[in-house]
Amino acid sequence: MIRIDENGFYGKFGGAFIPEMLYPNIEELRENYLPIINSEEFQVEFRHLLKDYVGRPTPLFLAERLSEKYKAKIYLKREDLCHTGAHKVNNTVGQIILAKKLGKKRIIAETGAGQHGVATATVCALMGMDCTVYMGAVDMERQKPNVERMRILGAKVVPATSGSQTLKDATNEAMRQWINNPVDTHYIIGSVVGPHPYPEMVAKFQSVISEEIKAQLLEKEGRENPDMVIACVGGGSNAAGAFYHYYNEPSVRLIAVEAAGLGIFSGKSAATTSLGKLGILHGSRTLLMQTEDGQVVEPHSISAGLDYPGIGPVHAHLFDTGRGEFVAVEDEDAMVAGIELSRLEGIIPAIESAHAFSALNQLSYNPSDIIVINLSGRGDKDLETYIKWGNY
Ligand SMILES: *Cc1c(COP(=O)(O)O)cnc(C)c1O
Repeated sequence: MIRIDENGFYGKFGGAFIPEMLYPNIEELRENYLPIINSEEFQVEFRHLLKDYVGRPTPLFLAERLSEKYKAKIYLKREDLCHTGAHKVNNTVGQIILAKKLGKKRIIAETGAGQHGVATATVCALMGMDCTVYMGAVDMERQKPNVERMRILGAKVVPATSGSQTLKDATNEAMRQWINNPVDTHYIIGSVVGPHPYPEMVAKFQSVISEEIKAQLLEKEGRENPDMVIACVGGGSNAAGAFYHYYNEPSVRLIAVEAAGLGIFSGKSAATTSLGKLGILHGSRTLLMQTEDGQVVEPHSISAGLDYPGIGPVHAHLFDTGRGEFVAVEDEDAMVAGIELSRLEGIIPAIESAHAFSALNQLSYNPSDIIVINLSGRGDKDLETYIKWGNY
């Protein structure tokens, strides 16, 4: 059984390993999040916004030419059609309603590539909330269009100038700010990472993905369960959402796809389950890439969303128990898969999502199998990377 215990552990992974100064914030959230999100009032507002603002349910599309090529029945869950172009908004919509119910006035968030920052700035504009996004100074330079998107939406984007000036430094800065403004501020974390209750809370908001897959497959195939669900894993929120209602359905294979960068053992990769060891990252005990003396190793992936040195605790547990199957896909193979999907189905995927498609080459299955691939986002944000790669 895949389930979380009352202290926020999935097996030996998870928990809340945080500085004492952060206790009151985390405790407030831990005590209140379930009663609030299970309330009728919350659910009515959440469902309304998912439907009329995000554009849910997203289609489950039978990809016929892709199916023919890979000799299985392949469905695409079209999270790329969500408002803002990816699944991340499912979570930010949930958290902004929660923040409002907690009486918060200000939102802070961290972002690496800027996708979560944009999804956060979007819902803050929608709700008229003050929004500050922390972003590594190096990332701000690399992801200029998303910085400007956030600013257009009315958010303040603050550069984190410590360390490598990337995602983990932005996260440290956001945590510091949260400690200093506990009463009026909510911190929106963007994946199934961080201290309990974030991983489970984010997974619950994203679980709408597998809830819909079940209903849609029942209608199209007469059964709720596919044989396999495939999703890419950065921190793991789109995968957790696509797996959630299948965790305890053993006939459904759960395939998690990590970024192997230039090669798993090249020193430039983000293949956490191949390379990672037990440690604590951003308040959670999980698998992470670290040196012998426990320094976090800089990850690499061509896709900014998979460029993370750890995975959420639920995925560490899926790996540890063997419930999940983990595959690693290199930059080059992901790019090829992205072009292939563009040519076969007329859909240019986010490069993160392209990793999930490339995994088809590494898996074995039967021609009668039904496979659902979670298409986590659209490729517009990656156009420059596609162009630079150039091989199409
Ligand atoms: C951010 C992002 C991811 C990775 O994040 P998860 O939390 O692992 O889902 C994957 N795909 C897209 C399109 C993203 O924007």
